[in-house]
Amino acid sequence: MIDIKNKKDCSGCTACYNVCPTNAIEMVIDEEGFKYPKINKDKCIKCNLCSKICPMLKNKEDDTSNIKCYGAYNKNNDIKKNSTSGGFFSALAEKIIDKNGVVYGAKFDKDFNVIHYGTDKIEKLQAFRGSKYVKSELDKIFTEIKEILEQNRLVLFSGTPCEVYGLKAFLQKDYENLICAEVICHGVPSPLYYKKYRESKIKKYKSNITKLSFREKTYGYSSSTMTIKFENGKKYSRGHESDEMIKAFMRGYCSRESCYDCRFKSFGTVGDFKIGDLWNVEGYLGEEFKDGATLVITCSSKAEKILEELKDKIGIKEINKEKAEYYNGNGGTSMILHSANRPNERDTFLKDTSTMDFKNLRNKYLKMTYKEYAKMKLKPILYKMKLLDKIKSKSR
Ligand SMILES: Cc1cc2nc3c(=O)[nH]c(=O)nc-3n(C[C@H](O)[C@H](O)[C@H](O)COP(=O)(O)OP(=O)(O)OC[C@H]3O[C@@H](n4cnc5c(N)ncnc54)[C@H](O)[C@@H]3O)c2cc1C
Ligand code: SF4
Ligand code: SF4
Ligand code: SF4
Repeated sequence: MIDIKNKKDCSGCTACYNVCPTNAIEMVIDEEGFKYPKINKDKCIKCNLCSKICPMLKNKEDDTSNIKCYGAYNKNNDIKKNSTSGGFFSALAEKIIDKNGVVYGAKFDKDFNVIHYGTDKIEKLQAFRGSKYVKSELDKIFTEIKEILEQNRLVLFSGTPCEVYGLKAFLQKDYENLICAEVICHGVPSPLYYKKYRESKIKKYKSNITKLSFREKTYGYSSSTMTIKFENGKKYSRGHESDEMIKAFMRGYCSRESCYDCRFKSFGTVGDFKIGDLWNVEGYLGEEFKDGATLVITCSSKAEKILEELKDKIGIKEINKEKAEYYNGNGGTSMILHSANRPNERDTFLKDTSTMDFKNLRNKYLKMTYKEYAKMKLKPILYKMKLLDKIKSKSR
């Protein structure tokens, strides 16, 4: 049976929780805000199914010999604007609904917690649009997906690579009617830190949140902005140099332990699509890729077939693996093959999150430097003068 001695050995995929025949496994929140399986020994029949399927205990099976890489963008400008990258995911999801399928992805619940959810309604797809940089709550979604697959309905599941591996491991067989799209993944921040962050904003603005977007394109695609709207009409909008959520995420202060030595890094996947960013790629692929571009890696013949069917919805150009990695990493380290660094601050940041007042936490770890302050002030001016992108691409 599953026995987690080191937290880095569990990605929280929920495969064991869903597969246990006696419901002996519960997913329990730890002091950092992440869930881990806990076995009720009275209910356990020692069948070992949980450890047999756990993707962290298996060798990776993905084959990268037939992968193809593309730059893609959604031809619908509104969708592209409201998506994190080029809006490829929305085009794919629409196609699945057109085929009477069900789409699963991450959305906000009414309190802005991040949860996985499934829908077969086109008007509900916009809830999936945009990355939510937090570990999503999966609960019994894998069991629900299996039931739908058994009814022979088409299913699209999107999530982090460990979640896609988890779903495939739970299912224990291939389904022709399942399509999986995984995001290239820097890591998933703690839901506890995210909750504290939201509470601090609600307190400051004296109003509840009505909309939250981790990466709004206020100053263009290459300069993402955290945006929160409140019931009282006020709006918060800050870039990565000053926003406490994005800054902590990018610095790797609050990711799950499994993310710093991620076992799911590869150009391939056991699923069908891998999707991520392509930064400053317009000079290489053309101006039409400027306002957002999704790196799409196809890893199965199923994925290639669907891509053909999407050509009315997306603009697309094939690129080689080297260019895919280069533009995904913005000329630096790409997360396709590498894990994010684990900074020293990770040892105490999440401990302090559970005990410290948010203001003190920010002052201890996330105080803005003069350089960051200057960047924050200059950004709107440079953007208005159409100089922001030029400066950014020169500084690469
Ligand atoms: C936690 C996380 C880390 C990421 N790190 C990187 C990275 O380092 N490099 C990179 O190139 N790309 C990364 N991405 C992917 C990137 O942000 C875009 O999601 C991707 O490029 C697709 O963009 P799009 O415009 O086509 O679709 P979008 O409309 O942005 O699609 C969003 C998709 O992401 C899924 N999703 C959103 N939030 C979550 C979540 N919390 N957990 C699981 N699935 C989620 C939705 O279900 C949907 O399928 C990350 C995404 C997430 C969620
Ligand atoms: S199956 Fe998933 S949730 Fe269960 S122990 Fe393995 S990684 Fe963790
Ligand atoms: S060994 Fe079998 S019964 Fe026990 S927790 Fe694992 S799956 Fe459940
Ligand atoms: S970095 Fe790896 S372990 Fe962490 S969420 Fe992403 S795929 Fe899972």
